[in-house]
Amino acid sequence: MGALRRKLTRAGLPGLLVTHLPDLRYLSGFTGSSAALAVTRRTARLFTDGRYTTQAAEEVDAAQVQIVSSSPAVAAAQWLAAQPGVTMAGFDPARTTVAELARWKSELPSRLRRSFLEAIPAPFVELLRMVKDEDELAVMAEAALVGCRLFDGILNFMRPGVAEMAVAAELEHQARMLGAEGMSFETIVASGARSAMPHGRATAALLPRRGFVTLDFGIILRGYCSDMTRTVYLGKPGPGERKAYDSVLEAQENAVGAVVPGAICAEVDEAARSVLRREGLGEAFSHSTGHGVGLEIHEPPRVGAGQRTRLAPGMVVTIEPGVYLAGQFGIRIEDMVTVTRSGSQVLTAAAPKALIEL
Ligand code: ZN
Ligand code: ZN
Repeated sequence: MGALRRKLTRAGLPGLLVTHLPDLRYLSGFTGSSAALAVTRRTARLFTDGRYTTQAAEEVDAAQVQIVSSSPAVAAAQWLAAQPGVTMAGFDPARTTVAELARWKSELPSRLRRSFLEAIPAPFVELLRMVKDEDELAVMAEAALVGCRLFDGILNFMRPGVAEMAVAAELEHQARMLGAEGMSFETIVASGARSAMPHGRATAALLPRRGFVTLDFGIILRGYCSDMTRTVYLGKPGPGERKAYDSVLEAQENAVGAVVPGAICAEVDEAARSVLRREGLGEAFSHSTGHGVGLEIHEPPRVGAGQRTRLAPGMVVTIEPGVYLAGQFGIRIEDMVTVTRSGSQVLTAAAPKALIEL
């Protein structure tokens, strides 16, 4: 909260209305699904409804709690407007609908409707969330390790004729058994020619006798997401398939090696892209190299071309280059990587990356 207040002071904002739930959780500890947080330079107050009376009392330590019977965001805006010295309050335009803003304004005293609420110039809380503290890093390392165990376990389950959906179901069942609160996104199991779809959700398609299978999945542990991808081969890969796999692996490892404090995200992206370009696969690599991960599965920084954010110790990013050849196959390899003071640490190192043939 101290760092946020410094940002508010620098931006000349006496107050901030926080409605994006992951931001709110980050600042206050509250994990419920309906709340708003009002922050001033001196104090903070969380507004939620009666379903969360007990939960808010247990979870929230960095703010006062007020139970309301109407919209928490409206109550928070009104409370901010009533605070002495709070002449305006920021809100995150990327997390606010036009309808919400109109409603908040309409419920303010008429003299404040025009100018009290102001769109913030940068997503303050999201930017703070980029750098994880030790407690967060410990949870994320644990979540990543659960992911590696799941990968190890699912290998025994995968064979020709098993449906992609069955693979996803088994993986997700085991995830819950290992303590996951849920999956951080819909599990991707893409086999054979379907592996050429970067986001091929598990379907009723049966795993083929021969071909790649891409598994991309993550769990949620104490609010934090994990994210990893491995591509395995059913049967014996042909020389072209093996060569493509080796190229992706080399690109992935080159980019992991480029993750150091001070590196610019675009440079890390280029470290992967240059290898695939050299192998004639530049066109087949159709997405960014990676993304930040934390309370949300996709959060800043983005590791892609043109991204100028500098990596700093405590950031956790994914490194996940891939190649996709429509009608043939796709390959992606993804690790979660923490930026450390001296370089980086791969959180998903327990899952092997050398091509596994099943
Ligand atoms: Zn992923
Ligand atoms: Zn990812």
